[in-house]
Amino acid sequence: MGVIVQKYGGSSLATTERIRNVARRIIETKKKGNQVVAIVSAMGDSTDDLIALAKEISDRPPKREMDMLLSTGEQVSISLLAMAIESMGEDVISLTGQQAGIRTDDMYSKARIVNIVSTRLEQEIKDKSIVIVAGFQGINANDDITTLGRGGSDTTAVAIAAAVKAKVCEIYTDVDGVYAGDPRIIKGVKKLDVISYDEMLELATLGAAVLHPRSVEVAKIHGVTIHVRSSFTDTTGTLVQEVGDMEKEIIVTGIAHDMDVVKMAIFGVPDEPGVAYLIFDELAKAHINVQMIVQSAEKKGVNDIAFTVPKSDKEEALEIITRFKEKVGANAVIMKDGLARLSIVGAGMITNPTAAARMFMVLSKAGINLEMISTSDIKVSVIIDAKRCVEAAEIVAKEFDLVEEN
Ligand code: ASP
Ligand code: MG
Repeated sequence: MGVIVQKYGGSSLATTERIRNVARRIIETKKKGNQVVAIVSAMGDSTDDLIALAKEISDRPPKREMDMLLSTGEQVSISLLAMAIESMGEDVISLTGQQAGIRTDDMYSKARIVNIVSTRLEQEIKDKSIVIVAGFQGINANDDITTLGRGGSDTTAVAIAAAVKAKVCEIYTDVDGVYAGDPRIIKGVKKLDVISYDEMLELATLGAAVLHPRSVEVAKIHGVTIHVRSSFTDTTGTLVQEVGDMEKEIIVTGIAHDMDVVKMAIFGVPDEPGVAYLIFDELAKAHINVQMIVQSAEKKGVNDIAFTVPKSDKEEALEIITRFKEKVGANAVIMKDGLARLSIVGAGMITNPTAAARMFMVLSKAGINLEMISTSDIKVSVIIDAKRCVEAAEIVAKEFDLVEEN
């Protein structure tokens, strides 16, 4: 006997019929001789519906109350799923994040799991063999409910898989695995059989919406194998795990794009030690997700600093850099919307440095301008006009052989 952790996303639970389907799948897994801990998201779009409800009441709802509200979505699905399993004649119990011992820090709406007190959970696994846990939620040191950020149920699942030493953490979604790019925009893009933690982390962070980035980090730290697969079919999906000898010929594993990128720039920043620290420390303290930072070559004692943030953080970021401009006597700040980030990711780039040049070449042939560029050892990202992002993704996917031939 061993524990299998399964996580079901909102689309797999969107209707009572689908909830019954998930119940059958869990029971099947148990009948194969496993104990099952199932982590669930809220039904369908219900988290979005709750957010819309809050917006009707207040423009700036307190984050504590938002988490109180959003956590209810998962409570609906754990109870309904437990009822479905019970009605099929199996023993089962549902647990909230708190009951499952999920302790977080107190960053409401973006909390991080600090530890899992798994005594109760392990007892319930022994007693019942099937335990349903609410994803996305935990409690902080004051026993207040926190949530882990949109898509955070993945992270609950991986953290629980690590805590109970599960054999595997299966993430069920409405696609049958991880693709080399977004199948909705790149026609015929290939499905991956396996991807390394580092590559998956880059793709998830860059906006490929399959897995919550933090879940991949937690999986890497604890060596949890993630199996991303569909709840509507039985086909094998994609394994996310440590990959030993990467196929050397595969230079680029995947492409990610994000069409909600905003560029911010500060001109004429004094070229002195500590200035960059000041600004990015403030942005970090506000938990603004700064994605790309470029500092121009120094000219007459001043620099220009540009960076990108997600659209959702743009107002707060603008306030901060406007304050900063006054404080250090910079010349001007600007903000530019309507941009996209397109990235290629692949562990093979470490030993094959031609990838960036090939990407720039095919984009330039299409007349697509690169507003910003940044690279790491396994990634190259460019900022381009959002209107040309889909076309650019297709061109780059073809160049790196990421589409099926037909
Ligand atoms: N229900 C939450 C969301 O929609 C958490 C999740 O689905 O993982 O973001
Ligand atoms: Mg989700």
